[in-house]
Amino acid sequence: MDREELTPHLEELKRVLGDKVSEEEILKELDTYLNVYRVDVKSAKRGILKKHGAVDPGAGIGSGGGSVSKKIGDLTGSETTVDILAKVVFAEKKSVQIKGSPRTIVSGILGDDTATASFTVWDGENCNLDKGAVYLFKNCYTKLWNDKVQINMGNRSVIQRENVEMATPERQISYSSSVAKVADLREGIGNVTVTVKIVSVESRNILVKGEPRVVFSGIAADTTGKVQFSAWSDFGLQEGETVCIKNAYIRAWKGIPQLNFGDRSEVSRVDDTIGDIDETALSRKSVGEIVRNGGGIDMTVSGTVVDVRSGSGLIKRCPQCNRSILGTECLNHGTVEPVYDVRLKVVIDDGTGAMSAIIGREVTERLTGMTLKMAMDLAKARGESDAVARAMAGKVLLRHVRLTGNVMSDDYGPMMIVRDAEEEDTDIPRRAADLLKKVEEAVM
Ligand SMILES: [Zn+2]
Repeated sequence: MDREELTPHLEELKRVLGDKVSEEEILKELDTYLNVYRVDVKSAKRGILKKHGAVDPGAGIGSGGGSVSKKIGDLTGSETTVDILAKVVFAEKKSVQIKGSPRTIVSGILGDDTATASFTVWDGENCNLDKGAVYLFKNCYTKLWNDKVQINMGNRSVIQRENVEMATPERQISYSSSVAKVADLREGIGNVTVTVKIVSVESRNILVKGEPRVVFSGIAADTTGKVQFSAWSDFGLQEGETVCIKNAYIRAWKGIPQLNFGDRSEVSRVDDTIGDIDETALSRKSVGEIVRNGGGIDMTVSGTVVDVRSGSGLIKRCPQCNRSILGTECLNHGTVEPVYDVRLKVVIDDGTGAMSAIIGREVTERLTGMTLKMAMDLAKARGESDAVARAMAGKVLLRHVRLTGNVMSDDYGPMMIVRDAEEEDTDIPRRAADLLKKVEEAVM
């Protein structure tokens, strides 16, 4: 039994013993009874109470039968044993590290006709909850977390399905407007609470209005996505820890949301309920999702190259500002000796939508098999640089590719600055079969 599960018992004992015995001492004794004497919790509590001359209040403590039923709206966050009849609004099972050991938990949101609250089943290995179904959750305990009641189920808890209908309040919408998942973060959100894992963090010295300041920035993630953050105060953030950030705000740079927090924000360390972050799965997005939710960092999209746009192939750049130029004239730097480069501007379509992508030299060379040197030779031999664009288009058009990069988004729609690209499985018969299956599913 770990601290999490001991908490309700500890609370009960504290209530009975008052300030006669310190919390630390009670914990130590509980540990001795449970782990050295190997007795059950009920006997452990009786033993501790006897030792300190307290009377076993019977119904309340250790009897197991004294649990009361409450509505979610009536919970105070200090219940040690309570029964709750509620509907599962949302539930997911995940593997987490608790105090260094792996554990399967189930967490989500429960609702009844009075309110909604988040919940965690701490021993969730064999716990399967159906979304929308109603259950009687017996022997729960509650805590206040982030000023909100959280319902917990430890190993004394019993969950039984009830065959009843239940409506939940609409209020959960306003609840989620302050507590957000990474995938929900949008430009202009002024006050948000997120629980994220710090994937990376670094500090930089910058000047703000002439004053030197240290800004901490990096990448944070939850199970829905990754986001860049900037911390304008030193919260001592460490890689790998899970933190709850209150009063954060969102700014966007070219349609890519960024999480900011500073003096007004509160950062607290919380138990890791996020688990291992599968970065590959997190990054994978459909164009439809990107169009709906805006751009972001490190996104991966698979689709077919449906267009190769002008500005692709062999291009010239100004050696000073790196802008692409026509001829030898840079708008800013006048007549220059141009530097040659190759790139692709493509449109990819994944069936949910279309997105532009700009692919730089290294990835372009790899995808097309044509190096800058070969492109320059081809242009020279044909006497025109468009020959390169045509040859490159012939190599990539209608190919199935997986592109990874940051996606900007503006009025013209999303555009990815590609960092990496892979050609996907070109097994056409199988793709045709998959497509047919999708069509059949859609028809059925
Ligand atoms: Zn220039």
